[in-house]
Amino acid sequence: MFFSFYLQSDFSMTVRTRFAPSPTGFLHLGGARTALFSWAYARHFGGQFILRIEDTDVERSTPEAVQAILDGMKWLGLDHDEGPFYQMQHMDRYREVIDQMLKEGTAYYCYCSPEELDAMRERQREAGEHTRYDGTWRPEPGKTLPPVPEGRQPVVRFRNPLDGEVSWDDQVKGTITISNKELDDLIIARQDGTPTYNFCVVVDDWDMRITHVIRGDDHVNNTPRQINILKALGAPLPLYAHVPMILGDDGEKLSKRHGAVSVMEYPEEGYLPDAMVNYLARLGWSHGDDEIFSREQFCEWFDFDHMSRSAAQFNPEKLKWLNNHYIRQTDNADLEKLVRPRLEKLGAQLENAPALSEVIELLKERAHTINELAEVAMLFYRHPQPDAALLEKHLTAESRQALKDYAHGCENVTWNREAISAMTKDILAGHKLKMPQLAMPLRLILTGQLQTPSIDAVAEIFGRERVLSRLMPYVE
Ligand code: GLU
Repeated sequence: MFFSFYLQSDFSMTVRTRFAPSPTGFLHLGGARTALFSWAYARHFGGQFILRIEDTDVERSTPEAVQAILDGMKWLGLDHDEGPFYQMQHMDRYREVIDQMLKEGTAYYCYCSPEELDAMRERQREAGEHTRYDGTWRPEPGKTLPPVPEGRQPVVRFRNPLDGEVSWDDQVKGTITISNKELDDLIIARQDGTPTYNFCVVVDDWDMRITHVIRGDDHVNNTPRQINILKALGAPLPLYAHVPMILGDDGEKLSKRHGAVSVMEYPEEGYLPDAMVNYLARLGWSHGDDEIFSREQFCEWFDFDHMSRSAAQFNPEKLKWLNNHYIRQTDNADLEKLVRPRLEKLGAQLENAPALSEVIELLKERAHTINELAEVAMLFYRHPQPDAALLEKHLTAESRQALKDYAHGCENVTWNREAISAMTKDILAGHKLKMPQLAMPLRLILTGQLQTPSIDAVAEIFGRERVLSRLMPYVE
């Protein structure tokens, strides 16, 4: 366990981070990067990483989305120490805290109807004011509240401080200060008693003793509200780190047209999890000029000091470049496990065919994805059907003569690519031909296509017998 080193560090038991996705869609790249940063921060300090599924939006939450999150985390190798916890299983606890706040006076019932709230906003707009809840039902010393409307269920509102400001030292963005005048009394329980989003986050962060809230900066607006509620509960405040968004390379919000947005499309396309983790780590964080590093190094280096304050840009080409690096680093036997099912899907004939490990060894150098590797590898596993017109074009009378010598030479040449290459050069010199004049018809005949890796290497992997039997019909 490579993390044992960190677990022994002095910070052990202090840092507790969480990833708290809402299961309303797939796990997208931004979510995965937030998860990665939260995970790495906990690992760096030998702390705990908690997975919490925020499923209180019952209309939009689905079991498939939960599964997609779990699958994505597993694929990326982001193991959690506690959870997954589900907010829907904490409803009693939320109600308990709401009751406590009602008792203590930090929350109150509000009986305003939606129509009354609309009218309130309309009045404010007309008067040129900020639209906000006007505190009709907010209890104040000496204030008489309106009579409770019969049969109407109240919502519960948080009694936000009227004056002063909320300030936090954001670990990424620096100090952020919001005046309490900008925050009105947030609804924390709806008419049917169900707690609202910000409230559940607060209670769970408190109960789970989260020390560092690391999340997307689309949550900056929620933070002052959450801090006020935590303060009202007498709960310790976590540190907040709001990570800038990921944009497409055109500067627009990341969407389908920038490539896959669901993390789980990447394994399908043949990306390796190490490449993805390495790629995501560099989206908004850096360690000098280092572009390629392991998970262990990332966990060792990760901190908030080297996070960018501005949005990161998704660059699919760089991800491909990294994926190629990790493909080259991966053992052929491990690659084989990924390539074989893809070949089968493509209809490869794998029996009585070249050894897959040799094919992988030849192709991995240039493959950007496992899918690409499998597609190129197909040239070894399908029966070639050279296009007649192409053959006619490339198999000229001169080429045919050279091809005869080639076939003849193949009978005795030592069977490795160097010897085959030397033989080919001799034949070309003898016939005063250029490489393509022999290599093109050879490619067509052996593989059915004009583009292949080095034809010497292709021939070597095919083996003497197969090369001869494929050439035979053309050289007799
Ligand atoms: N559930 C929220 C989301 O998926 C995250 C909440 C948080 O991290 O505080 O955006």
